[in-house]
Amino acid sequence: MRASPPQIFVAAALLAAAPNLARAQEAPPALRIHDVTVVDGPGGVRPHQDVMLRDGRIESVSPSSGTGAFDGLVVEGAGLWLVPGLVDAHVHVGDTSREEEERTLRWALEGGVTSVRDMAGDARRLAGLKASLVTGEIVGPALYYVALLAGPPFLEDPRLVAATRGYGQGEAPFMIPLDHETDVVRAVAIAKGTGATAVKLYAALDADLVGAATREAHALGLRVWAHSAIFPAKPVEILDAGVDVVSHAPYVIWEAAPATPDFTLRARGDFEHVPADGEDMGRVVAAMVRNGTVLDPTLFVFDRDHDDPVVRRRLEWGAAFTRRAHRAGVTVAAGTDGIGRPLAGELPNVHREMELLVRLAGFTPLDALTAATLGGARAIGVEDRIGSIAAGKDADLVLLAADPTVDVTNTRRIAGVIQGGRRVR
Ligand SMILES: [Zn+2]
Repeated sequence: MRASPPQIFVAAALLAAAPNLARAQEAPPALRIHDVTVVDGPGGVRPHQDVMLRDGRIESVSPSSGTGAFDGLVVEGAGLWLVPGLVDAHVHVGDTSREEEERTLRWALEGGVTSVRDMAGDARRLAGLKASLVTGEIVGPALYYVALLAGPPFLEDPRLVAATRGYGQGEAPFMIPLDHETDVVRAVAIAKGTGATAVKLYAALDADLVGAATREAHALGLRVWAHSAIFPAKPVEILDAGVDVVSHAPYVIWEAAPATPDFTLRARGDFEHVPADGEDMGRVVAAMVRNGTVLDPTLFVFDRDHDDPVVRRRLEWGAAFTRRAHRAGVTVAAGTDGIGRPLAGELPNVHREMELLVRLAGFTPLDALTAATLGGARAIGVEDRIGSIAAGKDADLVLLAADPTVDVTNTRRIAGVIQGGRRVR
């Protein structure tokens, strides 16, 4: 066992259960959004609603009843659409300067993103950001992050070297090498001590290790977020191990090919000859359905011009697989693998991911919005708190000036953002 002692990060573990921003601060004033059209996955489109917010939560959603007495602020919602706060289910926000990270988080929140799932970085930085978000020192999306468990070949990866600066090779408690010599119980306990919501399973693990790590993480109350290809484990083995989420739709193609020992080949599947609608991929979809796995396709990160035919084909293939999984009833979460840059006139890339789901994967605009709200909430494991507009849920909401169900690009028409019942824009 090569990892550092767990006590280094024990204080950070408190963060995993930390409340959202609103509850850590003074309660915002009660708010009534009057006569608004409510849009979410479970409820569809509900016109002429009054939505009452109190103590950071949604108190009630009911048909507009004119003007009753009310002790708080009233926002006129006529001509506006109210949707749940957006969730980017795949970001990496802890890898620049603190100043840049704070700017990005604020910008993302103002762009409608009220929660993010960070899929690996320097957990020292992420824990620091999360602590500042929870106490209200800085503003941004609620942040959920991982500790990484990966096969030893990943120790050579320059991204890992950069994220673990200051530790000896393989000794960072948030990027832990896993092989058959590892004490998995201890490794997962160390991972939990980093304040992570989940372990991320990545690179060069076999089915036995995926299974052992998943069982132990679940036993400690951690979520398990995996890549869809972790050679030599096959995608169906990863799914049947009971991981909660798999990322990157195109990589499931490896179910139809022999495992390669080189995990860096994961992005270069045979997209020319393995059909997304064939039998092998049918087994992958069936495993997702059987296990209730959430799919995080990350179409955005594959959307790039390139001379390389594999790169060109990959997006289309991933979208075709996502379409098939969605039709079979698999929960899809909108993740970008790149939250975006805080530039003037730019919005977070989760808006692009929704557009790609509609344009390439056959989603209706409402289905795409559901992927970017309830789908993300399910991926993180907080669907009891966020992802739809219902009494008792956190008041994380976005007001839109145009109907997102007729055109998904209307999620860009942001008229207001509310997080934890507090207006942030
Ligand atoms: Zn990623």
